[in-house]
Amino acid sequence: MTAPNAPLIELEDIRKSYGGGDSPSVEVLHGLTLTIRAGEFVAIMGTSGSGKSTLMHILGCLDRPTSGTYRFAGRDIGAFDADELAWLRREAFGFVFQGYHLIRTLDALRNVEMPAVYAGTPAPQRDARARRLLERLGLGDRLEHRPNQLSGGQQQRVSIARALMNGGRIILADEPTGALDSKSGAEVMALLTELADAGHAVILITHDRDVASRARRIVEIHDGAIVADSASSAASATASTASASASAASTADDRARVREIAQTGSTHIDAEPPTPGPAALFGDTRDFMAAMAAGVARNATPWADAREAMRTAWHVMWTNRFRTLLTLLGIVIGVSSVIVMLAIGLGTQEQVIAKMATFGTNRIYVVPGSSSPREPGGTLTVADVAIIRDVPHVKLAMPFAAGDVTVRAGNVDVRTHIWSVTTDAEEILHWKPSRGLFFTDEDERELAPVMLLGKKAREKLFGEANPVGRYVLVNNVPFQVIGELEEKGAVSGDKDDDDVVLTPFSTGSRRVIGDTNLSWISVLIDDLDNAPQVTQHIKEALTKAHHIEDFGVYDQAAAVRAQQQTQRTLTLLLGLIAAVSLVVGGIGVMNIMLMTVKERTREIGIRMATGARQRDILRQFLTEAMLVSLVGGVTGTVLGLAIGSVLILFDAPVIFSVRGIVAAFACALATGLVFGFAPARQAARLDPVVALASE
Ligand code: ADP
Ligand code: MG
Repeated sequence: MTAPNAPLIELEDIRKSYGGGDSPSVEVLHGLTLTIRAGEFVAIMGTSGSGKSTLMHILGCLDRPTSGTYRFAGRDIGAFDADELAWLRREAFGFVFQGYHLIRTLDALRNVEMPAVYAGTPAPQRDARARRLLERLGLGDRLEHRPNQLSGGQQQRVSIARALMNGGRIILADEPTGALDSKSGAEVMALLTELADAGHAVILITHDRDVASRARRIVEIHDGAIVADSASSAASATASTASASASAASTADDRARVREIAQTGSTHIDAEPPTPGPAALFGDTRDFMAAMAAGVARNATPWADAREAMRTAWHVMWTNRFRTLLTLLGIVIGVSSVIVMLAIGLGTQEQVIAKMATFGTNRIYVVPGSSSPREPGGTLTVADVAIIRDVPHVKLAMPFAAGDVTVRAGNVDVRTHIWSVTTDAEEILHWKPSRGLFFTDEDERELAPVMLLGKKAREKLFGEANPVGRYVLVNNVPFQVIGELEEKGAVSGDKDDDDVVLTPFSTGSRRVIGDTNLSWISVLIDDLDNAPQVTQHIKEALTKAHHIEDFGVYDQAAAVRAQQQTQRTLTLLLGLIAAVSLVVGGIGVMNIMLMTVKERTREIGIRMATGARQRDILRQFLTEAMLVSLVGGVTGTVLGLAIGSVLILFDAPVIFSVRGIVAAFACALATGLVFGFAPARQAARLDPVVALASE
């Protein structure tokens, strides 16, 4: 360690005023000048309200003076930024407060190792050191106790251990015995004396003359001014002489407390050397600055920092699990509803498209008659089918004659529809027999009296019996049933395509309907995208043949496209509703984070006093917000998938989209980040003194 004579702290004409702005400004410290050397044991004594704590906050870099100079190891720290001050607090100071200022949700061990966390010390190392310190302070069996499970004296010893964690080069103790009974107070004083003997600088703040008398130097402060300083009254005495005599006195005084430490087999509480670096460097300004630059940059990897923040965040979340659960609910509902709604939207869309596809999506109809009532109703003939077949991009064109007929099977008479079509029907109508066979081109040529039944027509005529091979009369013309068509289902409204009989075009039109004019022509094109162009070409070709536009051309693809558009809009809408619930979840996160910051202001102050930089606090609170969202996101995803799976069991149209799930998850995380940022920044920007003073 550095020579005891080296001035470590030099205050020059330090003034501190509170208030200003709206409230009147009150000067609390009136130009203090004070020098403290390495290894000194100083008591700062004064009545309540004399400005001791204010001075201590300035000494410990928790607060800045309004004016005056503060030199630390010869460096004017007025120019230090927040991170550099945090580094100084972490490496040089150890605080012991009247109210202990332990974090109540953390056990003794975690409280003690906190300064090392902010120093970036690897976990195994700091854990070992924290254990050793607590053991030497007689708390080896209290490592996992939380502050509220410890007595005042024990808590104060934990806070001393914390002060020593990073070396505790300078111990700043503000009324350390103020809240303790006399026995515990004596123990704590013994420890401080022990530390002073071991070479730590100890600055003890007290209103109690007896307590102050334990120090080797007493600085009396009254109304914000130094009124007496034993060092200047005995100016010729060197610090080392004072140290030696005081040390002897103190050991004589406190046998009881020394015994406790002696039992652990160590002469010094801090037999462990302080962390290397600053301790050795305070003497040399250049090295000091280099160490600070390196220390502010930190040696811990971002990964280690992130892991540490994650561990803390998890701990906080677990400690407040009920409240966290309520917050999570918003995110969980948001994420799961995004996933389920998108899945249902997508599923419905696919279902409709699939259904449309069974009727053929790339089809065009040509129907007789003009759309204008003034034009004469035209006719379509088989010749027109031939013309259409020659239009580019047309794959198939099929004449279609439809009508209503009476069909008799045995003594059952039913009314149904007849469709007279060619063998292309199988492909154009996308309709296959479920039983029996489709008719052939030969049947077509030979006017074979054969037919297929739609499912509904079969039920009406034959019930559940197999109709294949049976004979029926269609308007008194005998036909043989050669097959049954698979069920098509009504695509819309009352039109039922299954209540129909299919015959070859030649047989049906001539022998049953008795008219060779067509009801319409069905056209199959090669690609949906060519529909508008083909429609145009068919119009032109037929108009040329008819010399008049006495027909209409309808593009079913257009209807499908419109349907798809509607579906897409619907899915978007569902997604939007779900997204709104995510935002609501996010506001929940923000709310809880704001509350957390309010509630834990003192904890933030404690963390800052032990060396946390603003960005450490920011990272911690952001991590907490993110973790809540992450857990909410995972739970929401699992719940969404579960709900979707249950819906699938009930035959609901559900299609999970990986993109939707990833998006919902990303939204949840982003929600945490966005809504957690403001509270986290608020926490990080807190003034250490203000934060510490909060209840
Ligand atoms: P001590 O610790 O010696 O009891 P303090 O340093 O806490 O005294 O306070 C010194 C004076 O400064 C007191 O009069 C107190 O009212 C005032 N004071 C302390 N902190 C604040 C503050 N944050 N705002 C305004 N006045 C303050
Ligand atoms: Mg005070």
